[in-house]
Amino acid sequence: MSTFSTTAELEARARISLRWLLLACAALVAVGYVTFIFWLYGSNDMLANRHSDGIPGAPGSPAVVHHLRGDVFVVSDRGMNVTVAAGRSGLLLVDTAEPPALEALDKGLDRISSLPVRFIVNTHAHHDHMGGNAFFARDGADIIATKAAADLMRADLGELVAPRNPAGFPLPNITFEDSYELRLGDETVQIVHIPDAHSPGDAVIRFVNANVIVTGDAFVDEGLPYIADDLGMTIDGYLRGMLTIADMSDDETILVPGHGPAVDRGRLLETYDRLKRIRDTVAFWKGLGVPQKFMLATYPTFAWPLRWHKYGVSQKWFAKVVYRTVEFSD
Ligand SMILES: [Zn+2]
Repeated sequence: MSTFSTTAELEARARISLRWLLLACAALVAVGYVTFIFWLYGSNDMLANRHSDGIPGAPGSPAVVHHLRGDVFVVSDRGMNVTVAAGRSGLLLVDTAEPPALEALDKGLDRISSLPVRFIVNTHAHHDHMGGNAFFARDGADIIATKAAADLMRADLGELVAPRNPAGFPLPNITFEDSYELRLGDETVQIVHIPDAHSPGDAVIRFVNANVIVTGDAFVDEGLPYIADDLGMTIDGYLRGMLTIADMSDDETILVPGHGPAVDRGRLLETYDRLKRIRDTVAFWKGLGVPQKFMLATYPTFAWPLRWHKYGVSQKWFAKVVYRTVEFSD
């Protein structure tokens, strides 16, 4: 009798211990999840990083010059890229960065060629891509941009551009709606409008012979992209733009993103897949009628690599903009 009682007692104790163990594990997982979410979403900052501040490039340090292919080079400083094509009588620049990187970038240009800047193409109207227009167009270059980007520059002139460029700011004098092409020496330069992606009037620039495409911020490597939804841009427009860039490229194409080192088409497509997965996850919750704040708690950006936060926006900001702009008709 006493033996039976002892066995039953042991079994009961084992059951209670197992129950407590499971409860403790569940509590640990719950606390871990909440802590993780807090850690992840703790910052209210929109930007994951500031490319002018967060990327190495101490004042006075030289800009980095890379020869890409043919007559096309990229000069980089503080995470900002100026792509340079050398023609017979002058240079074409894609984007002009912003102070305080301009002096270093100018010295980088001198290492490529002593020819004057004849053309500037702005990928879009953000200051870190056209804040050096006045500086680099000082000898009278033509400035090319989409009409929408030029309109945005004009609209922003008062509050954004003018205070930083008190000497005056040259606006694009050549604008177009959908596409524009020009010759520079032996090179054909195609400029294509990418609608509804990063900002109004985004353009990508293709150097046909060199097989180089400059994407501006219509593709961000190692970062979640900013999407100006207040100006009508959407996640689906952004993804469509990435597919357009993929269609314009092949396996040999060198892609120069708006910020950071050049990459290939495979990297663009990998980034597209990851962004599409986030878009589909958020669309799933929104389709079920889950409010935005509960959608955030599901951590829809969980598959985005933590090391891919050099550029662009925070995970929370991105998840919210996807929620706000996702289209269900696709
Ligand atoms: Zn931008």
